[in-house]
Amino acid sequence: MGLERRRTAARRAAAGLAALTGLLAVAAGARVAQGGLRSEGGPAGGRGGTPAPEVTGAPGATTAAGAATAAGRPYTDRHEEYMRAAIEMGKLQPSNPYGAVIVNTTTGEVVCRGVNNHANNPTFHGEMQAINDCARTWPQLKGDGAKAEWAKLVLYTTAEPCPMCMAAIEWCGMPHMYYGTGLWELEKMGLHQIDVESRYISSKKNFGTPCQITGGILSDITNKMFEASKNHTANHRHNCLEHGHARPEGLLEELPRD
Ligand SMILES: [Zn+2]
Repeated sequence: MGLERRRTAARRAAAGLAALTGLLAVAAGARVAQGGLRSEGGPAGGRGGTPAPEVTGAPGATTAAGAATAAGRPYTDRHEEYMRAAIEMGKLQPSNPYGAVIVNTTTGEVVCRGVNNHANNPTFHGEMQAINDCARTWPQLKGDGAKAEWAKLVLYTTAEPCPMCMAAIEWCGMPHMYYGTGLWELEKMGLHQIDVESRYISSKKNFGTPCQITGGILSDITNKMFEASKNHTANHRHNCLEHGHARPEGLLEELPRD
C-alpha cells in the first residue's frame, strides 16, 4: 500500500497517538520489544552466555524511578505495559522487530515511538526513530531547557541497543533505558549485531550521569519475536513496512491491507 494511505490509516488506527503518525510519515520503519524484568549492571562487558539477572545503573545515577506520575501511579509500576507498547511497534517490522517507545516519567504517558526502517536508512533503528520522533515533535526538547526535559524521559526497546543507539541515548541524557532481549541473546540467534554492550557505552561517558540500564523486560516475548524474525527475514528479504506485509495486532490491526 502507498505510504500516504498507510499514514492516513495510522492516524485512524492510533487515534490519540500523534507520535506514531509522525513516525510512519517519516519512516515507515522503527522497532519494539518486551520481556520479564531483569536488570543488568555490573562490570561492562561480562556476558558469559547467561542472562544477567540484576538491574542496575552506574553508581550515582539518578532517575525518576519511583516518582508518582500525574496519574498517581509511578511509571516504574508499568514496565511491562510500556514494553508491550514497544513490542507493538516491533510487530510492524516482523523481519526486524526492533521497536522502541519513550515514556514521560512525569505523566506516565508514552510520548514517542519508533521501529526499525533500515531499508530507508541504515541508521533508522527503533531507538533512533523514537528519539527523532520526540526531537521533531516536542518543542521543549530544543533550546535552553532541553536537558531538563530529556531527563524526564526514559526509553523502552525490544532489544538491547546497539552502540550507535546507546550513544544517542546518552547524548540525549535520558536517565534510564529498559530493554527486552539482550545483545548476547541476539548474537546467539545469529542476528547481525555489533558486539559492544550498552553498559560499556554508558561506562565511557565522561560527562553527566550515565544512563541506568535494565534488561530482560518481557524477554520471553521479545526472544520469540526475534527468533521468528529469522524465518521471516529468510523468506522476505525486504522492508515489511514499505511493502505493507506487516500484519498488525492492536494498533496495526486497523491498517488496511492490500
Ligand atoms: Zn541501534
